[in-house]
Amino acid sequence: MIPRNLLLPISAFGIAVLVAVRLSSAQAPPAPGEKSAAAPKRITIRAGHLIDGKGGRVLDNALILVEGDSIVSVTAGGTAPAGVETIDLSQSTVLPGFIDLHTHVLLNGDITPEDYDKQLLKESIPYRAILGARNARIALEHGFTTIRDLETEGAMYADVDVKQAIANGEVSGPRMQVATRAMTPTGMYPLLGYSWELKVPTGVEYVDGADNARRAVREQVMYGADWIKYYSDRKYHFESDGVLHSMVNFTDEEAKAIVGETHRLGKKVAAHAIGSDGIAAALRAGVDTIEHGDGLTEPLMDEMIKKGTVWVPTVMVGAYVAPGRGGNWPRMVETEKIAFQKARQRGVKIAFGTDVGGSDWRDIGQAREFQYYVDYGMSPMEAIQTATSRAADVLGWSDKLGTIESGKWADMVAVSGDPLKDISELQRVTFVMKSGKVYKNER
Ligand SMILES: [Zn+2]
Repeated sequence: MIPRNLLLPISAFGIAVLVAVRLSSAQAPPAPGEKSAAAPKRITIRAGHLIDGKGGRVLDNALILVEGDSIVSVTAGGTAPAGVETIDLSQSTVLPGFIDLHTHVLLNGDITPEDYDKQLLKESIPYRAILGARNARIALEHGFTTIRDLETEGAMYADVDVKQAIANGEVSGPRMQVATRAMTPTGMYPLLGYSWELKVPTGVEYVDGADNARRAVREQVMYGADWIKYYSDRKYHFESDGVLHSMVNFTDEEAKAIVGETHRLGKKVAAHAIGSDGIAAALRAGVDTIEHGDGLTEPLMDEMIKKGTVWVPTVMVGAYVAPGRGGNWPRMVETEKIAFQKARQRGVKIAFGTDVGGSDWRDIGQAREFQYYVDYGMSPMEAIQTATSRAADVLGWSDKLGTIESGKWADMVAVSGDPLKDISELQRVTFVMKSGKVYKNER
């Protein structure tokens, strides 16, 4: 900040400079923020093979014309218009940019409670936001051009700031929908176990009672939440019926108030629900997506199909933290695998989400999640659709995202090999374009 007594002379000087710049800028390119009169930049991409995200056959030797931030046309063969820059991906497979529906850019691994507490207690929110920007960059380089970030874990509304800095072009990252703070009733989410004499931060916003739930929804939406997230359950355990059970956090009245108010404001609700009891409660409340969902039973799957609720299974981080957490966690991974296979056969809508941030962003790339889906029985094409067209639908962006076709945002990635033969190819993205801008090109 400039001391007030210095303001006047500097302002006078500033005006002189501004006048000088204006006088000399008749032929100069437009300043940042000014609209250019020139036509939007055109680029063509020659794709050796194109997986367009719609699930149909692979198109060979495709020509994609991009203008500004959008795709203008996709044709088989064809020649690029004269004078337009061409990106040669003729030795690669091109796919739509990936969408991860469950991330935490403000978190960097929480296998143990100590990992988690340390971040909330020893790192300021500005410091965590800087790491959040770094994490967003990592996601983009791995081919994730859009993410739904599902709560800041005590970093308040810093996800809105990361989202805005990316949207303004200040830092590179995926476009984001964000959930801000998430909710539980008092005492049902860390930090816990500290002396009552200490005021420690909480990983979520504590909410008690239906009126307070509505107030919290309004507050979070006011500060920029695109989604409302709440924790439907905790204390996951197996009972003699072999089912993964849990303790439900909110009363039905409270959960319905959260969902009702969110929908009334035109937003959607994601519920963390791991045990069958938590999933059942979330479905009763009418949430839009079930996160994790390890304890899904067949009657609950049928309920999801009936209601059109989408399952975001987040296998990657569950499997990642299980060995370190011990207890029920390894069995929960096995339980989820069986549930995944049944849900897929039954026709539950499954969409791609990793819970990255629960793992350190630098450790495993989010595209590892594809491998689990294929190992669990999906075809590679089906797995790709969970992170493209299906995920775009969850975000309400089907008209803009998730497929490579005319009128969509120009979000594309490329890999060297054939992901339909080896899904792990998606972990080795060599090219990334978001909104028509190239962020990575190793070819
Ligand atoms: Zn999560």
